[in-house]
Amino acid sequence: MDDSGKKRVMVAIVVICLVAAGVITFIFNNPFSSSSGPKGPVQMLCVNPDCGYAFEISRNEYRKQMMEKGPMGPMMMGPMTALHAFTCPKCGKKSAYVATKCPKCGKVFIPNYSITDDYPDRCPECGYSAMEERYGKRKKAK
Ligand SMILES: [Zn+2]
Ligand SMILES: [Zn+2]
Repeated sequence: MDDSGKKRVMVAIVVICLVAAGVITFIFNNPFSSSSGPKGPVQMLCVNPDCGYAFEISRNEYRKQMMEKGPMGPMMMGPMTALHAFTCPKCGKKSAYVATKCPKCGKVFIPNYSITDDYPDRCPECGYSAMEERYGKRKKAK
């Protein structure tokens, strides 16, 4: 392997690590996955505007799909898309993402992880954030 080949491998490893770190951070920061335990189902939401189907998959099924897809594909499209698109059982499109269910009103939504001055799990319906409950309101002090 020549030097440029090595460099590419290094870059790939760094990217994979970043994606893995992001996913791990996401899983550990998700108050619903930690409170429902490691065997709890994963809340999913189809973002297809014609569908919007909310459903749950088992954690085993979630892991299986993550493994099958691997870190290929979404790599070039930024950290948001690093969260894998899953196949929606209703419309059959790869437009389902890991979502959060509001414990207050039951609204299922995709947490907004690009937000910087608020908690990503704030419910768009009623404004409740379980992370805010847990960590306090310091992030929103403005
Ligand atoms: Zn769908
Ligand atoms: Zn709500």
